[in-house]
Amino acid sequence: MVAVHSTARGPSLGGCRMWTYGDTVEAMRDALRLSRAMTYKSAVAGLPLGGGKGVIALPAGSAPPQGEDRRAVLLDFAETVDMLGGTYLTAEDVGTSEPDMETIAETTRHVTGLAVERGGSGDPSPWTALGVEAAIRVACERVFGSPSVEGRRIAVVGVGSVGGRLAELLAEGGAQLVLADIDDRRRSLAGRLAAEWTAPAAAMVADVDVLAPCALGGVLDDYIVPQLRARAIAGAANNQLAHEAVGELLAERGILWVPDFVANAGGVVNIAVELEAAGYDTARAETRVRAIADTVSTVLDHAEATGSTPLAAANEIAHRRVAEALAATR
Ligand code: NAD
Repeated sequence: MVAVHSTARGPSLGGCRMWTYGDTVEAMRDALRLSRAMTYKSAVAGLPLGGGKGVIALPAGSAPPQGEDRRAVLLDFAETVDMLGGTYLTAEDVGTSEPDMETIAETTRHVTGLAVERGGSGDPSPWTALGVEAAIRVACERVFGSPSVEGRRIAVVGVGSVGGRLAELLAEGGAQLVLADIDDRRRSLAGRLAAEWTAPAAAMVADVDVLAPCALGGVLDDYIVPQLRARAIAGAANNQLAHEAVGELLAERGILWVPDFVANAGGVVNIAVELEAAGYDTARAETRVRAIADTVSTVLDHAEATGSTPLAAANEIAHRRVAEALAATR
């Protein structure tokens, strides 16, 4: 299924998630929720894109299809994408990868995230990491008075594709890292970066300056927030707050939280470069992704000026931009 939440600012873009669901209604709700989040993410990043999402729902308990079955499923999905005539552009997401996008591209041209050699923007993860690093630096400037990460203690929880690259970038900047992952095979990264390695639950409440959640959503809740020792939080994980009011709890504790959909927009910002008239270019992508620092500053300034939380400020900016785009089309 494909959910198109908004095309007010441009074609709706969002990855294709291949995941197991209890039933189709659950899958549809996920598609709708994620497509809305993409509208907000792109609008706050200032991209000429709307929000959409694809879901290939697998029956509960089933393994992801492989071989010819996988190909058939992807081509079915590609037909749906093609029928939408470019109002929805697909990309990789949880459960799909670059080779899957190649398969989808056999049937429709409305696909992004192909290999750089094919004119696409390639793997989004290093770009997401670069954007999160930019967000962390802005947070450090606000809280500690300098964007430098040198000597800052930073915990990265979840060191997969994004968190692992983020850890490397922060280590290059001279940060003292605390790394954690449920997958013990990732431990070697800690050795390579001379970082501390600890359990995820301990890393969340470690005595650090900055916390970067880079695994799953829902990690910031009423139980954990009172125990946090970091003064700033910026990470890649989507939907970090268990519920929206946690944004206020964080503010009450004087913890600066950069909304996830602002900090982790590097992947979609990189994809948007593919759609520019001049085509994809790595140097331009880097400039655009680094500009996430300006977006974070805009959001935090707006929060300060209006006495609201960064989450409320980011939502308000996104809302306003979508409303302006809608008004312009009337
Ligand atoms: P990934 O699967 O490569 O890495 C996730 C890592 O988190 C894995 O190493 C996994 O073992 C670990 N993990 C899982 N549960 C954990 C837990 N409870 N505690 C600690 N570690 C745990 O995924 P990724 O691409 O690095 O994405 C990480 C997060 O960032 C996800 O929430 C994803 O939705 C979000 N995100 C990713 C991108 C991107 O470009 N890849 C873009 C935007 C948002």
